[in-house]
Amino acid sequence: MSQTALVVSAHSADFVWRAGGAIALHAARGWQVTVVCLSYGERGESAKLWRQPGMTLERVKQEREAEARRAAEVLGVHDIQFWDLGDYPINLTEAAFYRLVDLYRALHPRFVLTHSKEDIYNHDHPRVTEFAQHARITAQAHGHNPGQKVLGAPPVFLFEPHQPEQCEWKPDVLLDISPVWEKKRAAIECMAGQEHLWEYYTRVALQRGAQAARNSDKAIKWGEGYQSVFPHVLDSLG
Ligand SMILES: [Zn+2]
Repeated sequence: MSQTALVVSAHSADFVWRAGGAIALHAARGWQVTVVCLSYGERGESAKLWRQPGMTLERVKQEREAEARRAAEVLGVHDIQFWDLGDYPINLTEAAFYRLVDLYRALHPRFVLTHSKEDIYNHDHPRVTEFAQHARITAQAHGHNPGQKVLGAPPVFLFEPHQPEQCEWKPDVLLDISPVWEKKRAAIECMAGQEHLWEYYTRVALQRGAQAARNSDKAIKWGEGYQSVFPHVLDSLG
């Protein structure tokens, strides 16, 4: 059976900028990656669409969903889900919480990717990481829906926020995404509503790639940074 991974994205483009490389890398190795977009980012992350005359909330949502679906296809996402919880502010309901718990129990992901713990520019992002991590812990609880197989201890890696220095985010994992960079860039280019970010996140990937090369003896060009939540459990230090 395929290995699984879960990505919890506040808005419909976050998984592309922040985790597109990890998704494409694992998908190319046969993993089934599920992406949950809790909202479309329809109010707060769709400025370009809102500049078009006569734009409506429904049309923005449709366009953001179409873009995200195209990007997910490029990256090889197994399942992308849109929960339409609203944004700015995101409405993290109790029903959505238990839906996410059920998803953890259905997938048993080997790892989880979600947002940074702080983001002074975007209050949806830290709320989503708290939500995603709390749902993970509930999925581990033996008293929740007893009889179901409880979730193990999948590591949680936090996405790089837009301005890491302002968000108390420091990478302790650098992932070599060189083999799939072309896919990530193609997925980035699906996000037409945020074209101003394409070059920004290309520079981020080059920067993290250079740092990954410096911290290894590998010729790495493109990278993605993550901050892990839990200690890394290893069976060897070499
Ligand atoms: Zn976002």
